[in-house]
Amino acid sequence: MTGKDQRMENTLAMPFAIGQQMWEPIYPPTQVKTKCPVCFGSLAVVVILGNGERVGVPCEACGISYDGPRGYIEEWEYQIGARPFVIASVQSMNGGDWVVVNDVGWTYSYANLCATEEDAIQRSREHIESLMERQAEGRRHRRASVKKAAWSIRYHRKQIADLERRLLWHRSKVESASSSDARLMDSESGTASGSATNSSTEPS
Ligand SMILES: [Zn+2]
Repeated sequence: MTGKDQRMENTLAMPFAIGQQMWEPIYPPTQVKTKCPVCFGSLAVVVILGNGERVGVPCEACGISYDGPRGYIEEWEYQIGARPFVIASVQSMNGGDWVVVNDVGWTYSYANLCATEEDAIQRSREHIESLMERQAEGRRHRRASVKKAAWSIRYHRKQIADLERRLLWHRSKVESASSSDARLMDSESGTASGSATNSSTEPS
């Protein structure tokens, strides 16, 4: 690139004038509490197992806090809107993307400003629609937590069964050991394997 081309790039014209009024699309958010879309405020989900048994488990869709299920979820509502943006100065330009500053010091990407209020309102509406779609995706994700509830029941029941079996086994060792203490003390060959053989024949 020659020096002359460089100079031409340096004098690239701004696509706007200082003092020009544009329109900025806005979408002021409000946080709203909505009834949980999974437990509908009851705080629990009832899972019907294959054998018809009904098991209640805490709702995970609204149970993200330390306090457990709350019965509601927090979502956002947005208002469609636009407000005037008077370009007071340029903050930067990089690869054709102008960042401009308005008369009260707020910065904004020029590409996201609109020439008319109608255009800005239309862009605000489209952006809110995409935000609501993302929120709906979040709801679908919450509903998927019900599958996890069924999985949790199976998992915890299996853990309980394993622990109960181990508890019985350990208890049987202690109980049989105490009842055969006297014998072990007399015996000179009271080895571990000997006592294990002993205990398995002891009544529990
Ligand atoms: Zn819930």
